[in-house]
Amino acid sequence: MKTWAFVCAFLLALMTAAGAAPEEFLTSDGVVKITPVRHASLTIEGGGMLIQVDPWGASNYATSRPADLILITHEHGDHLDEEAIAKLRKPATIIAGPAAVRAKLPETLLLGDGSTKSFGKWKVEAIPAYNLKRMRPDGKPFHPRGEGNGYVLAFGGKRFYISGDTEGTPEMRALKNIDVAFVCMNLPYTMTPEEAAAAVRAFKPKVVYPYHSRNTDLATFQKALAGSGVEVRLRNWY
Ligand code: ZN
Ligand code: ZN
Repeated sequence: MKTWAFVCAFLLALMTAAGAAPEEFLTSDGVVKITPVRHASLTIEGGGMLIQVDPWGASNYATSRPADLILITHEHGDHLDEEAIAKLRKPATIIAGPAAVRAKLPETLLLGDGSTKSFGKWKVEAIPAYNLKRMRPDGKPFHPRGEGNGYVLAFGGKRFYISGDTEGTPEMRALKNIDVAFVCMNLPYTMTPEEAAAAVRAFKPKVVYPYHSRNTDLATFQKALAGSGVEVRLRNWY
């Protein structure tokens, strides 16, 4: 009985352990590894740096070494998790994000709309992330313009886009030369898979990973991009 309980606990731990293997991308400066962690959280390794994007759930990082850079897109609880950040910090870790994140974490290095900063060999550009039409019952957008970021990270001749929580804004559609994109979708907070696919068709990344997609029908997203030339990669985020 006891052994059985142990086996069950072990299997459960395996099933709930961070879902996916690293994705590898060859750049002119070596391999970049990106690991889906959960929901909106991912880990990027390359150029001698470990970057955590919106780390959430300290237990997802039980075996992680401290990050060099922690990028936060906005202050919502599924993106800004102070406990996970505390777990991943060392004295030299840089935390970067928009003003709404700095309001909660004063040591945050400000990365406002459209600004670009270099971290080691990486160049990070903040792209606006906001709602066009999805509003709270009080009429305010879930993500007001000017408060949240997406990011384009450039390294070794490759450009990686992480959307943050957004709809298919003109800024997203105008992105150029994106090799790899992580694009959010889910209602009521961001957008439908059809809307996400339409935005992806506009900026045509080489590869797209839907993320932040809880309860979204990803087959719809995949179907809407059929024949677009964009490779859709579905991974285990939950
Ligand atoms: Zn949000
Ligand atoms: Zn979110």
